[in-house]
Order: sequence, then C-alpha cells, then structure tokens
Amino acid sequence: MADVLPVAIVGGGISGLGAAHALHKAGVPFELFEAAQRLGGVIQTDIHEGFVLEGGPDAILAQKPEGLALARELDLMPRLVGTNMEQRTLYILTAGRLKAMPEGMALAIPTKMWPFVKSNVFSWPGKLRMGLDAVIPPRRGLGDESIASFMRRRLGDEALRLLGEPLLAGIHAGDPEQLSISATFPRFVEMERQHGSLLRAMLAAKRAAPPAAAAGGGNGRGPMSPFFSFQGGLGEMVDALVARLPAAALRTGMTLEQVERGEAGYTLSFAGGARVQARAIILSIPAPRLSPLLAPHSPELVQLLDTIPFLSSATVLLGYEREQVAHPLDGYGLVTVGGERTTTMALSFLSTKRPGSAPEGKVLLRGFVGGARDPDVLRMADHSLVAAVIADMKPHLGLSGEPLFSRVYRWPQTTPQMTVGHFDRVAQIDRLAGELPGLFLTGAGLRATGIPDCYGDGVKTAEAARAFVA
Ligand SMILES: Cc1cc2nc3c(=O)[nH]c(=O)nc-3n(C[C@H](O)[C@H](O)[C@H](O)COP(=O)(O)OP(=O)(O)OC[C@H]3O[C@@H](n4cnc5c(N)ncnc54)[C@H](O)[C@@H]3O)c2cc1C
Repeated sequence: MADVLPVAIVGGGISGLGAAHALHKAGVPFELFEAAQRLGGVIQTDIHEGFVLEGGPDAILAQKPEGLALARELDLMPRLVGTNMEQRTLYILTAGRLKAMPEGMALAIPTKMWPFVKSNVFSWPGKLRMGLDAVIPPRRGLGDESIASFMRRRLGDEALRLLGEPLLAGIHAGDPEQLSISATFPRFVEMERQHGSLLRAMLAAKRAAPPAAAAGGGNGRGPMSPFFSFQGGLGEMVDALVARLPAAALRTGMTLEQVERGEAGYTLSFAGGARVQARAIILSIPAPRLSPLLAPHSPELVQLLDTIPFLSSATVLLGYEREQVAHPLDGYGLVTVGGERTTTMALSFLSTKRPGSAPEGKVLLRGFVGGARDPDVLRMADHSLVAAVIADMKPHLGLSGEPLFSRVYRWPQTTPQMTVGHFDRVAQIDRLAGELPGLFLTGAGLRATGIPDCYGDGVKTAEAARAFVA
C-alpha cells in the first residue's frame, strides 16, 4: 500500500468534485475515487449531431449563489446560456387534454390575477379555494409537514392535484404525501411564517421590488433568466472543474467496497483489490451505496441513512425535424397529472427552453419517467421507454414519423427524497458521523440536493476535513 493520503474523496459527482476543488485550492493533498469511468455523477452531457443532450440535470437555479460563483471562478461566464425568457409557457396534461398554465404562476402560486381567473386549468371552486389562502390563518410552531399537507391547508385539494403533485413533488420525482415542505420548498414555509399567506407574500414581494434579475446571457446580451446552463451543456462545467484539479489525483473506475478503521485513519478497499489509506475520508456517494460500507462502524448511523429513500428515474431524449411536431412548442414543456395513465411524468421542450440545444430546424424533447409514480420504471427496456414516451405525447404534440434519434439515460436510486422530518434525521446523522473521527459525509440527499447546494456542501465538507487533517 502506498503512503497515507491526508484526504480521500469517494464519489466524483458535483459534491465530490466540490470537495476536491476546495481541498486543491487550500493546498491539501487528496485523491478522488469514482466508480464510473467518467466524472460528474448524474451530470452527463453528450453532443450528438449538433444536439446538446442532457441525460441528467439540464439547468442550474441562478438564485442560489454557488452555481454562478462557480461559473465565474471557472471563467465560464462567456459560455453561459439562460433559459428562454420569451416562451415560458408550461403545459399540463389533465383530463386527457393539454392546457396552458396561466401566465404568472410562480410554481404553485398565481402572481397575475387575470390570467389565473381566465385559466381553464382550474375549476371555479378550485380557484376560489386557492384564493382563500389570503385569509386562512397560518399554521404556527407545529414542526415539519408534507408538501401535500401544506398545499391542502393553504390552497386546497385541486391545487395539490394540479400543482403540488406534478410540479412541486415532480421536481423531486417524489410523492407529495411524503416529501417535507421545509426541506424541499423552505421559501413557502417562510412566506407563510412572514406574511400569513402565500398570495399576500407574493403581492408584498411584487410591491417591494421588480422581479429579481438572475442569470443573463453571460456576455451581457440576451434576456435575464432564473436558470442557466452553458453552450455545450452542464458537462462544460464538470470539464472545466476537472481541468482545475490535478489529473493524477482523479481515479476513475474505482468502486469502493469496504471501509476499515485503524489507528492511522481509514483503509479503503476497492473492487479489483486496490487498497488506499487515508487520515480523513469524504464519502459523497448516495445513501443506498453508503450504508453497507458503514454498517460495520455504526449500525445506528446506517439505520438512519436507510430512512432516506432514493428513487429511480430515466430521461428519454428524442430528436425530431421541426415539421414532424405539430405543436408550437412555445414553452418549457409539460407536466402530466397523476392518474392520467401516462408513463411520462414531464416532458421538456428542450430546444425551446434552452436555446442552442438543437440545430436550426430541429426539435429536442426530453421525457422524464419513473420516480414515486412508477418506482419500477427501470425494468422497462430502452426501446419500451422510448415507445411509451412517444405514445404518450403523440396525440398531444402531433408527432409524426420516427424520431431522428432517441437516447435513454437511466438513473437507478439516484434521486433522494427529503421526507417529513428530514433535517432532524440529518442532524442525527451528522452527530453519529461525528463519532467516527476523520469520516465526513456529503452528497445529495443529506444536507443538499441540486447542483448549487451539492457543490456548496462538498466545499463545506472539505473545509471540515481540512481542519481535521491540519
Ligand atoms: C434526472 C435528473 C435531473 C436533475 N435535474 C436537475 C437540474 O435541472 N438542476 C439541478 O440543480 N439539479 C438537478 N438534479 C439533481 C442534481 O443533479 C443532483 O442533486 C446532484 O448532481 C448530485 O450530485 P452528487 O455528487 O451528490 O451525486 P451523484 O451525481 O449521484 O454522484 C455520486 C457519485 O458517486 C459514485 N459512486 C457511487 N457509489 C460508489 C462507490 N461505491 N465507489 C466509488 N464511487 C461511487 C457514482 O458513480 C457517482 O458518480 C437532477 C438529478 C437527476 C437524477
């Protein structure tokens, strides 16, 4: 076995890369071990005949400062692409019909009265019930609750069915009855706390300031946008980050199989027999992969890690000639309502949403399947997933002929569910992990989810590891 490493990082997604970046900048020697042959984890961009295919995440929320700060640090600002601000309609497939969500919906909250009143998405009783949010007293001091409970209380059952499940829970591919509102949408909880009502909070925010400008074209041109990516997709960010790290410290094709504790720290054993010793280890791998590794060291910790569900999903990318799609595709895409008997949970019109992601005259669509609605979706073969998404969409988008290409990206047990009480459980996880000196945990599903938060948590975790080995 070679010398003892100060820090070993396991998992080369954005959390592990964030940790590596921070250690490198601080001058702490480290090595990062990743099971796959590529770095980036669920961030996977492929370029295919001029199409920018995002297999996993496709955009970064600009409101979270870590994403833009990283883009700046990596000199990627000139490569920044905002989401389309001209055509932002979101459609919803409900009762067998595709309908446009009213203009001005801020996720689940209407911010423009007239389009909401005129909308054919909600029934009159549903609209009136949503309006009652303005007078329903806030719930105070009763701890966490589910997205469903929050939505039912404030906006009613119809809003839960049409907004809470497909949109709020849909972002996490999850079940609104299980997901924690304070872990997934803390802003909503804060709005209720401060203003007593979501509608009143929205009005107050509108009065206080014009809509906050977030990410622009990066080059000073183009509209401001709340989400951004890069001309060559999110993979550009991974490549730029990796290019800043010492190549010899990045070890792909290394699957961690065993963790042993000794006097000098930890011994990591990898598939194929390689063994590495490190004073501190940062594990940034999903909880289902993590808990068997920690079982010999803290059964209590493992019990808690096992309470964090990770769901499976897949994305199905389809390329078409523009004339093969009758729908105007004048928006970001569509969500489907649970019970519509579609395999597709959501479909992005990527070539509209993200300018430059398809060549001129062509269309890029991306279906999202699985999650809590269909936990066994990955049992379906690729061709069946492609056929299912096309069959779901054909009548609503007017698809004709075969797609120019299709590609399926599978994500087994990679989408964490922050269920009710999540942060209390994570506080206990942190306490128990703290009883194993030199062991640090990061990664989606603990304190963070989404690219900016995961990167930020990786950086913070590296700081703790650096302090430990200093
Ligand atoms: C389909 C999809 C769409 C998403 N869309 C968005 C979006 O638009 N915007 C956004 O901000 N976020 C989005 N997210 C969430 C975001 O991508 C993740 O939260 C984040 O990238 C997770 O990073 P991570 O490093 O924590 O985990 P991962 O990316 O899962 O990385 C973990 C790494 O650990 C490795 N690993 C696992 N076990 C071992 C082992 N035993 N030994 C060695 N290595 C191991 C894996 O191979 C993997 O590379 C999306 C996620 C998915 C799946």
